[in-house]
Amino acid sequence: MRVLVTGGAGYIGSTTAAVLRDQGHEVEIIDDLSTGHRRAVPDGTTFHEGSLHDRQLLDAVFARPFDAVVHFAAHSLVGESVDRPLKYWRNNVGGTLTLLERVAWGGAKRFVFSSTAAVYGEPDEVPITEEAALRPVNPYGKTKLAMESAMADAATATGFAAVALRYFNAAGAWKRRGEDHEPETHLIPRLLRSILLREETFAVFGDDYPTPDGTCIRDYIHVRDLAEAHALALAWASEPGFTALNLGTGTGHSVREIVATAAEVTGRDVDPPVQPRRPGDPARLVAANDRARELLGWQPERSDVGTLLADAWAWHRDHPRGYAD
Ligand code: UDP
Repeated sequence: MRVLVTGGAGYIGSTTAAVLRDQGHEVEIIDDLSTGHRRAVPDGTTFHEGSLHDRQLLDAVFARPFDAVVHFAAHSLVGESVDRPLKYWRNNVGGTLTLLERVAWGGAKRFVFSSTAAVYGEPDEVPITEEAALRPVNPYGKTKLAMESAMADAATATGFAAVALRYFNAAGAWKRRGEDHEPETHLIPRLLRSILLREETFAVFGDDYPTPDGTCIRDYIHVRDLAEAHALALAWASEPGFTALNLGTGTGHSVREIVATAAEVTGRDVDPPVQPRRPGDPARLVAANDRARELLGWQPERSDVGTLLADAWAWHRDHPRGYAD
């Protein structure tokens, strides 16, 4: 297929673009490099540096229609979204509307969207199914839900197939691509970087949660498994309309379990201090992933935490300063 990947210089976008290219798809990428990295753009793809708000650029890119669009380009820092909500509404929702117009005007028949478990907010029940109430608790999650809604309405009205993939905790690294965010807020890269650089910068945020060891439980999913789900979703999405699918393993791991596995994988002693809870962190977020398994035939293959941390560790060791190395 001829596929446009927006945000294809980012962590999950570039990994997905590389997997699609390796599978023989013709891939074009659009990314404004606001958080992405030029070096993450896979060889053998066509790269357009620019923003989804640039209508002229989009007109030029869509001059030849695509079979599919995979849409990652968005801001994704929860804390920043609380401080600067309009930046998130303008960029995330505004960019998606401009893109959806091109798709609705005949630019593509399939649309796969990078969504998030943040659309659920604090769940009433775990594991979380796609039928759970959608009550995001921060502007980031709210913009992702608004993007899903716009896409669902446009898909229904104009007859393209839209799939929203709601990721749980993306982690790990694949081939030459890994996690390099500034600032870095996520557990695994913060932990591994502190081990690598022998800096005492890592702390456990709260050990008084109602979980067996008192630390928060999350569902970590390898970026390679996420990328594969996008490839499968592209192949599957043929009927007009909207479908949402959770992407997680269905198994949760506590912060303390991740720290213990990191100690095993790196062969280092790790005994981080405990700091107060980070505001807004739910105790337990785990996916029900039956729908993605059934509809796509998807199966996480590298997401056991040992493999996931080993892949991430290999990447951080090779790139101690991220893509600058
Ligand atoms: N966490 C932590 N120390 C850190 C970063 C994260 O203890 O330096 C915890 C965080 O409080 C949460 C879990 O690790 O319970 C996963 O956080 P992350 O930011 O990776 O993902 P989230 O689930 O918030 O999207």
